[in-house]
Amino acid sequence: MSNVITSIDRRSPAERAGVRTGDKLISIGGHGVEDVLDYRFFSYDRDPLLVLEGPDGQRRSLRVEKEEAEELGLNFETYLMDQPRPCSNHCLFCFVDQMAPGCRDTLYFKDDDARLSFLMGNYITLTNLTPREAQRIIDLRISPINVSVHATDPKLRAALLGSRAGGESLEYMRAFGRAGIVMNGQIVLCPGFNDGPQLQRTMEDMADWLHAILEREGAERPVLIGQSMGGYLSQVYLERYPGTASGFVSIDSCSLKRKYYTGAELYLLKHTEWMYLAFPWKLLVRVGVRGTAVSEYGRALMKCFMESYGKREYCALADLGYRIVAQSVEADRAYDIRCPALLICGERDGAGSAKRYNREWNRQDGLPLVWVPGAGHNANTDAPETVNREIRRFLSGLG
Ligand code: SF4
Repeated sequence: MSNVITSIDRRSPAERAGVRTGDKLISIGGHGVEDVLDYRFFSYDRDPLLVLEGPDGQRRSLRVEKEEAEELGLNFETYLMDQPRPCSNHCLFCFVDQMAPGCRDTLYFKDDDARLSFLMGNYITLTNLTPREAQRIIDLRISPINVSVHATDPKLRAALLGSRAGGESLEYMRAFGRAGIVMNGQIVLCPGFNDGPQLQRTMEDMADWLHAILEREGAERPVLIGQSMGGYLSQVYLERYPGTASGFVSIDSCSLKRKYYTGAELYLLKHTEWMYLAFPWKLLVRVGVRGTAVSEYGRALMKCFMESYGKREYCALADLGYRIVAQSVEADRAYDIRCPALLICGERDGAGSAKRYNREWNRQDGLPLVWVPGAGHNANTDAPETVNREIRRFLSGLG
């Protein structure tokens, strides 16, 4: 732990209060400071009382005048005020083990630190968490955190991560869900290991976690609003928890009913990666951007999103998403929408056959459909006012 203050931001509340470089930060508001999470959490309130220890070992208390949520302005030797926690896994697909030799040292460090997940967005496996640390995440409401789920079958997850704790640590996810900690999950799909029925199970478990979060938050009779992939997850949720939602809004999503898909479409959905890989990356980005949005704003967002990945990573991610959809369709469940529902679709939606699916969903299942003029697949970014107006109208009709 490194709680020695190495610098103080100019004109910050800490500088105004007379905190000095070289002081050790002992506590804030009577709470000991173990690391950056304690520092951030306990310094949130206005006018906190700091206990500092000078280089001579003398302690003193100092009241710092500041607004609620305003940064104190202290900097420490390391960002975490601690060493980053290394992972204790031996994943089948370890990205770090696959790194080319000769890169900078930090790229070979296998971190698995919950604090970095919250502060920097790193994905963590939870296998090296102690029960005390897990409780701290709940107590400090460290949310959201990004979790590498991979599979929810305990034995399979342990095998994928190369760690027995891979199975046991699923309990932490359940506890976080019950405590209302939001988790963003990722799955590294390993053909022959966690695809097929295992992946389907994972999707359904995610619907279960969503249910646990809604219950924990006391959200009774929620209205599920899902755009594209979000609409699919909503349908899995509605299938598993019939009667719990009071409404469903699909934005540019499609029905998961098997009858709407041809065999060829399902085949293509399961084999997108090699098709995408065949395109030069620049062309793929251009097609992807134009296929999902028509407004300048929507296209810029999509471009930014796609370019935050490398080509291979993006193709694998897209393939995973489409496979999940195909597998959910092939599960051949009823996917009947028994609550009030609204379908919203961009008039210029160019993502596959989304327009045809929505037309048929409307015609065959009788769900009301609103076409959004001048909007593509991401209608909510192309025409947010129209989409929000339709959602508000739908909600007010629910009473
Ligand atoms: S969690 Fe797995 S993939 Fe990540 S660094 Fe550790 S062994 Fe590698």
